[in-house]
Amino acid sequence: MSNFKYHGFGTKAIHAGAEPDPSTGAIMTPIFQTSTYVQESPGQHKGYAYARGKNPTREALQKNIAALENATYCLCFSSGMGAMDAVLKLLRPGDEVITGDDLYGGSYRMFTKVFANYGIKFHFVNMTHAATIEQYVNANTKLIWAETPTNPTMQIIDIEACGAIAQKHGLILAVDNTFASPYLQNPLALGAHIVMHSVTKYLGGHSDVVMGALVMNDAKLFEQLAFIHNSCGATPGPMDSFLVMRGIKTLHLRMERHCFNGRKIAEFLKTHPKIEKVYWPGFTDHPNHAIAKKQMRDFGGMISIVLKDADLPETFRIASSFNVFSLAESLGGVESLINHPATMTHASIPKEEREKAGVVDNLLRLSVGVEDVEDLIADLKAALA
Ligand SMILES: *Cc1c(COP(=O)(O)O)cnc(C)c1O
Repeated sequence: MSNFKYHGFGTKAIHAGAEPDPSTGAIMTPIFQTSTYVQESPGQHKGYAYARGKNPTREALQKNIAALENATYCLCFSSGMGAMDAVLKLLRPGDEVITGDDLYGGSYRMFTKVFANYGIKFHFVNMTHAATIEQYVNANTKLIWAETPTNPTMQIIDIEACGAIAQKHGLILAVDNTFASPYLQNPLALGAHIVMHSVTKYLGGHSDVVMGALVMNDAKLFEQLAFIHNSCGATPGPMDSFLVMRGIKTLHLRMERHCFNGRKIAEFLKTHPKIEKVYWPGFTDHPNHAIAKKQMRDFGGMISIVLKDADLPETFRIASSFNVFSLAESLGGVESLINHPATMTHASIPKEEREKAGVVDNLLRLSVGVEDVEDLIADLKAALA
C-alpha cells in the first residue's frame, strides 16, 4: 500500500498518509493521545521519544497534506500564525522581507509588531505587478512573502513570476495558500519554496480546529524548519490532527461546491443595485484574471463586496441581518460566513494603510459555504433589500 502512487486529488485526499493501523486493522488513523513513549533502554525506542517532536497521528496528517501539494515534506503547527512564525525565524537581524500591501491582518501584525522588533525590515508593496517586487530587492533581502488570492480584496499575485525573481536573487519565496487551498493552487510547482496554510480554513473545513502547516520540497529548508518546529514548539495535538484528516477526506467535494456557489453568488452580486463593487478573481474583468486562470484550477468561494453609499451603521446593519450567513471571523468552513474586515479580521491594520489597500468601512467579505446556493442567494437578497 505504502508504495502505491496516488494520482487523482480526491484519491490522495482520502488515502495519502492513512494506512490501516498495523495492530488492529482499524481503517481510521488512531488518535495517539500521548505525550511520551516508553524506551527499552535509554535511547532505545521505536523512533518516538517525546510527542512535541513526533506523533504518529500528526505524521499521518503531514504525509497527507504533503501529498495534496505534490510535495516531499510537511510540518503541522498549532495555528497558521505558528507556521508563519517558524518561517520568519529562518531570518537574522538586518534581513529584509518583501511582502504584499493586502495581507491577512494577523500576518501584518506579526511582521510589524513582533519581528520588526528583532531587526527585520518589511517592505509592503503592491505585488500585483511582479516587476514592482524587484525594485525592493537589495543585498539584505532574504524572503518574499506572497498571499494569493489576497485577503480580503482578492488581488492575484503571479506566483511563477515571483518564483523567477526569487530564483534570480537567491531569495526564499513563501506563499500563503490559505484562500486557494491545495485543491485550487499548488505554489511549489510554480517556483515557491515554502507553502503555508492556515489549516483552520479550507483544509480543516468544519470550523472546529485551529492549525497551520508548512509544505516544501527542499531537504535543507525542511531540516531548518523541523528544527524550529521542535525547538520552539508550536506543534498541534493528535485529536486536532485526526479531525483535520477527517476533514480533508472531503476537501475536493467541498471545494467543487464552494466554487460552484461562489460563481453563482459573485454573478448575482455583480448586478445588484446596492453593490458598488465585487471582488472575485473569476470575473474576466478582474485585473489579474488571466493569471488566476493560469495558476488556479477554479476561483473559489471567497468574495468581497463594497456596499453602495453605505456608512458604518448601515454596513453594520446589513452585516447583522443575515439568517443563513453567520457574522464571524474565519473562512473556509462548510457554513457560509460574513465578516466586516475593517473592524474584525483587519482591525489591527491602521485605518490609512487599510484604506489604501481598499479595505474600506463599507467592505464585507463572504466565505461562501456549501449550503444550497438558492438559500444563500435568498439570504443575500433579504439582507440587501
Ligand atoms: C486565518 C489566516 C491566517 C492565520 O491562520 P490561523 O490558523 O488563524 O493562525 C493566515 N493567513 C490567512 C490568509 C488566513 O486567512
